[in-house]
Amino acid sequence: MTLFEKIAARLVPAEILYEDEHTFAFRDLHPAAPTHVLIVPRKPIPKLSEATDDDALLLGRCLLTARLVAARLGLDEGGYRVVINTGADAGQSVFHLHLHLLGGRMLDWPPG
Ligand code: AMP
Repeated sequence: MTLFEKIAARLVPAEILYEDEHTFAFRDLHPAAPTHVLIVPRKPIPKLSEATDDDALLLGRCLLTARLVAARLGLDEGGYRVVINTGADAGQSVFHLHLHLLGGRMLDWPPG
């Protein structure tokens, strides 16, 4: 099981904010912004570069979960960023595809 599958199964504690049949979302353990939530597909795709056409609907669902969680957390007015780190150069550390939802402060661009 990946770390995030263990979180979904309540084997590893996390503050889970949202769940549906296909995706779930929880607060990042080391927040990089006042709001930092991870959105994860239940299917453990290791990384974006390994997603296939069969994952198209699921990837869309992940974005819509990010939109829903952002709205519920009051980020619509100020705005927010959604990021996917893929592979070593991007600093991916958990190899179960996930979206970072970041908000609650002015975010720098380009990121470091
Ligand atoms: P990435 O570096 O894009 O793979 O992102 C992995 C993220 O998972 C990091 O931002 C970590 O802080 C976060 N993380 C690692 N372990 C946990 C955990 N047990 N609960 C919540 N977030 C975690």
